[in-house]
Amino acid sequence: MKYYSTRGNDGPLGYEEALLSGLARDGGLYLPESYPAFSDDEMRAMADLPYAALAGRIMSRFTDGELDEAELAAMAGDAYAGFTDLDVAPLHHLNGNIHVMELFHGPTIAFKDYAMQFLSSAFDRALKGAGRQAVILGATSGDTGSAALEAFRGRDAVDIFILFPDGRVSPVQQRQMTSIDADGAHAVAVSGDFDDCQAIVKQLFNDHGFRDRVNLSAVNSINWARLMPQIVYYFSAALALGAPGRKVAFSVPTGNFGNVFAGYVAMRMGLPVERLIVASNSNDILTRFFEQGAMQRDVVTPSLSPSMDIQVSSNFERLLFELMDRDGVAVAGIMDRFAETGRFELPDSAMTAAHRHFSAYRLDDAGTLAEIAASMEIDGMCLDPHSAVGVSAARRAIADGTVAADIPIVALACAHPAKFGAAVSKATGTTPALPPHLADLMQRPEKMAKADASAAAVRDLVLEQWRRG
Ligand SMILES: *Cc1c(COP(=O)(O)O)cnc(C)c1O
Repeated sequence: MKYYSTRGNDGPLGYEEALLSGLARDGGLYLPESYPAFSDDEMRAMADLPYAALAGRIMSRFTDGELDEAELAAMAGDAYAGFTDLDVAPLHHLNGNIHVMELFHGPTIAFKDYAMQFLSSAFDRALKGAGRQAVILGATSGDTGSAALEAFRGRDAVDIFILFPDGRVSPVQQRQMTSIDADGAHAVAVSGDFDDCQAIVKQLFNDHGFRDRVNLSAVNSINWARLMPQIVYYFSAALALGAPGRKVAFSVPTGNFGNVFAGYVAMRMGLPVERLIVASNSNDILTRFFEQGAMQRDVVTPSLSPSMDIQVSSNFERLLFELMDRDGVAVAGIMDRFAETGRFELPDSAMTAAHRHFSAYRLDDAGTLAEIAASMEIDGMCLDPHSAVGVSAARRAIADGTVAADIPIVALACAHPAKFGAAVSKATGTTPALPPHLADLMQRPEKMAKADASAAAVRDLVLEQWRRG
């Protein structure tokens, strides 16, 4: 399988090269040259596979000639061995036709573990095979960073630096990052918001001298190999609910458009996805885009679902590339305009294509608290604030007829409620307990670096701290 940049000026590359470089050299994101599709018969044969075998079957379509199905299944088996539910991504049926997919059974109890645990093993294998080492640099609004530091801790071939917005991640998220005490693993508190952290990462990737000197890699959701394992749970849920014989819709709480884009890829691979529901909090740049056909940057407002407090959805560029019929030059022009003016509009043809598959909803903090309370009362399910944004959107999509009543909607539960205990307690009066493996988390000692919100400050920090400097 060959990979190309969404901006038309990088590629073709193989799977492993795309894995190790993350962001393309022209500033774009890598995508495979095509989406390999499964026939209905092939999907029926996948329905009974254990999760790791399913992962191997699906991901091997994107690693053709470089990694085979058995190797991928073994890597997935290792990656998910420590998860606390044997089904890995179990479904929980609410009243009505909504099924919550629990994506919080990994070590840091958010869905990022599903990709990151796999990615760590993929990186290790690729770097060792090439006799190379790398510096991983990432920005996090909370969950990516904890999942990444947890997954990459102790890998000899990797120094990892995770930037997080100082004071803007939840206490549990912060402690999951800062309690990691391993050589080469660095949590960095940046005096700025998430978009500042993300901008610094982008700038340092565009600093080719620095990038080559430290062999810089990304594990943010801009890395294609991070999306690959996320495609798997869309298949696992839909197959469990009767696909390919039955259509399924998904409701995905999102900010960066990574997780929901994986659902789009699953659809392009043949999964009968009736609709993809994009669920935002009050940072609703994506919802406004689907309503108005214009992407318009706004200021970030802190919310109860901080992992979606984003105004620049970096993975959206992948959908943009598809909506523009894979015209990289057009995408580059649009993204340049967005960087300059904070706005772009799309032609009607592109918006028609977008509306064919996507619907979008938003939910503010008051609505989020109300949904957490209601799910507890009506369904006996304790949702974290992000998951509540998705479940609420699913309920509204049924109520307003966007999704027909006979089509099941899978709402992705992206974090364990204890990861955002303060919000849950505010809504229900009860603070959810952390699972046993994290029971003493808040007593573990903290270790972190601090940096100003500038690319130069972070570059200096990396050059001072990396182990091969
Ligand atoms: C990362 C995250 C999201 C947003 O996912 P994206 O794919 O990056 O948009 C939502 N909820 C939780 C709990 C998260 O950790």
